Amino acid sequence: MRCLITGGAGFIGSHLAEALLQRGDTVTVIDNLSTGRVENIAHLKEMKDFTYYIDTIMNKTLMIELVEKCDVIYHLAAAVGVRYVIDHPLETILTNVGGTEMVLSLAHEYGNKKVLIASTSEIYGKDRPGKSVFNENDDRVLGPTSISRWSYSCTKALDEFLALAYFKEKKLPVTIIRFFNTCGPRQTGRYGMVVPRFVRQALANEPITIYGDGKQTRCFTDVSDAVKAVMLLADVQRLYGEAYNIGNPANKVTINALAKRIKELTGSRSPIHHIPYDKAYEKGFEDMRHREPDITKLKRSTKFKPEIEIDELLSRIVMDFKHKPKFT
Ligand code: UDP
Repeated sequence: MRCLITGGAGFIGSHLAEALLQRGDTVTVIDNLSTGRVENIAHLKEMKDFTYYIDTIMNKTLMIELVEKCDVIYHLAAAVGVRYVIDHPLETILTNVGGTEMVLSLAHEYGNKKVLIASTSEIYGKDRPGKSVFNENDDRVLGPTSISRWSYSCTKALDEFLALAYFKEKKLPVTIIRFFNTCGPRQTGRYGMVVPRFVRQALANEPITIYGDGKQTRCFTDVSDAVKAVMLLADVQRLYGEAYNIGNPANKVTINALAKRIKELTGSRSPIHHIPYDKAYEKGFEDMRHREPDITKLKRSTKFKPEIEIDELLSRIVMDFKHKPKFT
């Protein structure tokens, strides 16, 4: 299979590239390095079935060439991370909507190629009374446009609408994947993700910064499980025109417990600080208290079973940070 990965030098994209190469696929990556890093794919550069381009997916001439030459597109290029999205609201909207439109239109025009579109649990939006588990048909509940966080949710929703419209009207074979708190080696905390932030802080014996009261919960998914799910979904033809949650409900922890466990695993002397959301992000910032994926649909369709438990997931990240020249 000839695979094109947009955003392939990013955290999830680079792991996907590695797994596809391992099973014998040919992989081409395009990444503009807005949040991706060349180091993420450095170990793949010498492989004969691997090619990469440092360029934007808005470069239509190049994208036509790449789409023509592939059988399947994994569209992961996007502005991601709560911190990044708040700091770059314009780029978030333009990249996430314009980039996806480019990918879908070229996929249609140049051979009706199969496309997997990366989406997010942010799609579901805010907390609502008595609800913490989300399935693919749940309503989306969002806050006002003055809060940047919700623009990310909206751009990804628009991506999903676009993909579904291409499926309905143009018969484009698309599958939507909604990632829930995916973590693993190579993820940086620079754009807001909590696990690499805490691990870096713990290893440097700096304060571990919990936002809010820390009683909020998340379910963390190891990137190897997420990649496995993506590859399974790509291989099943009858699943087109649908969205799938990808996550690991078994790895549910409060952010307080997460901080404590990371401190234990690293033997850190870091104090634990609680910081109000207004200070951590922006005035009026809204966090979700609880967010857990319902993965019944994914399991039914692909026989997927997440394998990596929270301690193993955290240990892998700690090891990764320890091997980096300096903690980033
Ligand atoms: N969080 C935190 N400290 C940090 C970064 C994040 O306490 O340095 C919290 C954040 O407020 C949220 C949870 O950790 O409740 C997960 O945050 P992340 O940005 O990783 O993912 P998301 O909010 O998209 O689930």
